[in-house]
Amino acid sequence: MKLIRLYCACALLFSFTTLTHAATKQPNILFIFSDDHAYSAISAYGDSRKLNATPNIDRLATEGMIFHRAMVPNSICGPSRACVLTGKYSHANGFYDNNRGVFDGSQQTMPKLLHAAGYQTAVVGKWHLVTNPTGFDYWDILPGQGIYYNPPMIRMGEKVKRDGYTTDIITDLSIDWLKKRDKTKPFLLMAQHKAPHREWSPNLKYLGWNGGRKFVEPETLFDNYAGRGKAEHEQDMTLEKTFTPLDAKLRPPPGINDEQLKAWNAYYEPRNEEFRKTNPQGKDLVRWRYQRYMHDYLGTVMSVDESVGKLLKYLDEEGLAENTIVVYSADQGFYLGEHGWFDKRWIFEESLRTPLLVRWPGKTKPGSSNKDIVSNIDFASTFLEAAGQPIPGDIQGRSLVPILTGKTPTDWRKSFYYHYYEFPGAHSVQRHYGVVTDRYKLVHFYEPGVDYWEMFDIQKDPQEMRSVYGQPDYAATQKDLHAELKRLRNELKVPDPDPAVTRPQKKKEHTEAKRVE
Ligand code: CA
Repeated sequence: MKLIRLYCACALLFSFTTLTHAATKQPNILFIFSDDHAYSAISAYGDSRKLNATPNIDRLATEGMIFHRAMVPNSICGPSRACVLTGKYSHANGFYDNNRGVFDGSQQTMPKLLHAAGYQTAVVGKWHLVTNPTGFDYWDILPGQGIYYNPPMIRMGEKVKRDGYTTDIITDLSIDWLKKRDKTKPFLLMAQHKAPHREWSPNLKYLGWNGGRKFVEPETLFDNYAGRGKAEHEQDMTLEKTFTPLDAKLRPPPGINDEQLKAWNAYYEPRNEEFRKTNPQGKDLVRWRYQRYMHDYLGTVMSVDESVGKLLKYLDEEGLAENTIVVYSADQGFYLGEHGWFDKRWIFEESLRTPLLVRWPGKTKPGSSNKDIVSNIDFASTFLEAAGQPIPGDIQGRSLVPILTGKTPTDWRKSFYYHYYEFPGAHSVQRHYGVVTDRYKLVHFYEPGVDYWEMFDIQKDPQEMRSVYGQPDYAATQKDLHAELKRLRNELKVPDPDPAVTRPQKKKEHTEAKRVE
């Protein structure tokens, strides 16, 4: 009798589950991804400098969830994209750095798995993985880094040249694809902007957008790196020493045509003339560069925000908003003058953390905010679970679906492993790895002849100005962090020694077109 009851209960449960699953339509996924977008340049993050307003990106926070501790495992363009596609760390997906990395497109990727599950898939815009995209029904990408004006692009292997401002072009191509898609299938669209990547060239219509308003300087603009080691002293990413005439718009950006150049000159030339006349030096020069940098960088963000607005509007108009997960994120964070820097790469907060906002109607509570440690390696598992698909065991990230529905699992990660490999390389940030928790960071810079450890208490020292490694007060915490770092390296199977040391250095060009058959 008991057995029969159990059988009936199971049968009921089974039919209920089947019915529920059948009734749940696979959600569309709109993945809007930008390049080098600092969270401090999204107004929803509430940065104290109040640098800009991003009403459309903020809408995702109002209607969905904003993540305050979203981290990347390797803060640099290509590797971060490889993490998104595979759900795996650099050492597991094989793309360690931009200098030597070539993405192996034959490996398992999230778009391929979604495609096999019935999704129509597309990627438009920045790709930056050297080999051609795989797993997409449609791809239309910028070669290498791409340029801001009149960009050459590669559409399904064919070189095409487009006129206009790149962020607008990527938005329009994304919407065109949505219009032409097979409406019987769910979609994954990865709309990936070049902006706000260096050299930060805004749309001409936004030149002077700030009306001459001065941007608030970061407290650490004139950091001298005391309290930290050789790597921080020897980097090459300061406004003072590294910022070029192209960065400063003392000369025009590549690709710009004569007509565009007239508008460009009308804004920049009188200001550049004034700069040449006053010829600021030392701290005054850094201050001038910071103001110019913020005008340009935040100007490019205005177009990214506009793009988000247009895409959301399209979803609204087509009645797609209810069944579409919208994700906004970037391949990493960025320095907006903090520590005197631009660029990224470090395990430190500004570059480690990336913006992440997700809207999922009916699942994610509008206006919710999350401080769990999440990562871009979690996207693959998240999308697969949302699509009702199994998550392959070799994927290292975890699904964010429980978090998005307001139920963080009790065994959710409390620590995060980070590893940066691109040295020697642009901006001379030395290789390092480390562990991050809600309060602490333990970092190992391990370049031969440089070997040293640092530890930061971000509760007491949120700007990470002073390493407390070796201080008696922190001895117990330091010991725990070393143990946790060792545990993570074992769990994630991080190769030791670092294979980036032994791989042959080869010069490669970021021109996917050359590889097109
Ligand atoms: Ca980037």
